[in-house]
Amino acid sequence: MKEQIVSIEEQGKNLPVRSQVDVLVVGGGPSGIIAAKAAAEDGLKVMLIESRSFLGGNMTIGLPILGFLGQKKNQIITGLPQKFIDRLRVRNAASEHRPCPLHMSITIVEPEVVKAEAFEMLEESGIEVLLYTSFADVIMEGSEIKGVTIESKAGREAILAKVVIDCSGDADVAYRAGVPCEKGNQQGGVQPPTLMFSLGNVDTDKLRFSIAEEPRTYLTDFIPNEYFGQNNQYIVVGLRSLVQKAKADGLKLPTDRTIVITGLEKGEAWINMTRVNGVDGTDPVSLTRGELEARRQITDIFKYLKGYVPGFENAFLSRTAPFLGIRETRRIVGKYIMNREDILSCARFDDAVAVASYPLDIHHPVGGDCTLEWSGDCYDIPYRSLVPLKVENLLVAGRTISTTHEAMSAIRVMAPCMAMGEAAGRAAKAAVRDGVFPSEISVSKLRKELLDKGAYLRP
Ligand SMILES: Cc1cc2nc3c(=O)[nH]c(=O)nc-3n(C[C@H](O)[C@H](O)[C@H](O)COP(=O)(O)OP(=O)(O)OC[C@H]3O[C@@H](n4cnc5c(N)ncnc54)[C@H](O)[C@@H]3O)c2cc1C
Repeated sequence: MKEQIVSIEEQGKNLPVRSQVDVLVVGGGPSGIIAAKAAAEDGLKVMLIESRSFLGGNMTIGLPILGFLGQKKNQIITGLPQKFIDRLRVRNAASEHRPCPLHMSITIVEPEVVKAEAFEMLEESGIEVLLYTSFADVIMEGSEIKGVTIESKAGREAILAKVVIDCSGDADVAYRAGVPCEKGNQQGGVQPPTLMFSLGNVDTDKLRFSIAEEPRTYLTDFIPNEYFGQNNQYIVVGLRSLVQKAKADGLKLPTDRTIVITGLEKGEAWINMTRVNGVDGTDPVSLTRGELEARRQITDIFKYLKGYVPGFENAFLSRTAPFLGIRETRRIVGKYIMNREDILSCARFDDAVAVASYPLDIHHPVGGDCTLEWSGDCYDIPYRSLVPLKVENLLVAGRTISTTHEAMSAIRVMAPCMAMGEAAGRAAKAAVRDGVFPSEISVSKLRKELLDKGAYLRP
């Protein structure tokens, strides 16, 4: 039998340098777009690369932005993230921050406008955005990152940068650079992914009034039924008895709960109910299985909604999200690892660069349920959690900062990710300006700049 070849050597290649920049942001999701905007504020040369054909990351898959308001209903994310929402509002593409008893607040956005507006916002600041371009590897000199290699239709090229901000959602850059990374809980289990999809012609008023008027039939998780009588834009989480009944009738449903999110358009509802356990978002084989399995699940979820949930009788499937939504992959190990206790004790840190309030919210890696735990107020996100161990010139923002599996379930929502982006962008700017590593900048000056520019930090 022929011997199986398990690896080959890639020959040393001479790569063209596409750009030399001050700050390179890898990944154009909620954290990346805000990081780039912040870094470019004083005229630095900033570039952002994004593997997909649009900006926005998970902000384009039909999710409401959670976490602008805290558990006490006060606004705790302001600054550049709020400015981005203001821009969307001008285009009727964002709702107000609506208080929600379960999610603190929901801010509904229109994915198509997010894609366009994010691009325009960065273009205005002179940021060079390269779409259809994947980060491939790091260029290191000892423990310092000097740039990255990219892959695109133009082949493999290099981008040199004074500071790199990893906003890939998967810590791709940090991992390749040799930053220690962790994945999942103690058994390695990660929160499962979901392929979002939206339906048209949903009578969202019928749904909310049914919930408000028949609380025994339409029991929701943690949200009082009367809330739905008062709010025409909402998230429903629950209706567990309906799911049970549909399962007993033979439908294959991957979750125990119904999750419906109203869209900005009348009659539109986004469904967060597919769920594929055991998917590794850093492995293409696993991702492919997840995408296919989630698409299969949509058939029975659609039958369930039409047949069992009021308001969906005449609904039609209008779109699926452009990609499988990945909740969790790698987390870096940074100078501080945020943990469960920090969230639940409303921890304060001297080097706080963002404030969040979203609860611990773990979609269990096994089974079909979810656990939530609230702290009653806000907690700080320390700068040290954005600064990786072992590698200089690198910052990380977004869901992959340095946390435990549990703490990550809280800080991962999009408003805090945007706030971390602002902090990382301003920190990168300070490092370039002062000619120091991001690990050496003056955090008190960074905090002052954040406050001066409108970000919220606790007094
Ligand atoms: C199903 C699901 C439901 C959720 N529900 C909510 C919710 O209701 N509200 C909420 O606020 N949050 C929700 N979250 C969490 C939230 O969406 C994410 O945690 C958040 O978007 C993370 O932001 P980020 O910027 O770190 O990463 P992402 O949003 O993932 O953005 C990363 C970007 O980097 C790009 N990228 C990745 N790798 C590379 C590479 N190698 N080269 C170039 N570009 C790359 C990606 O294409 C993407 O655009 C949910 C998440 C999922 C998956």
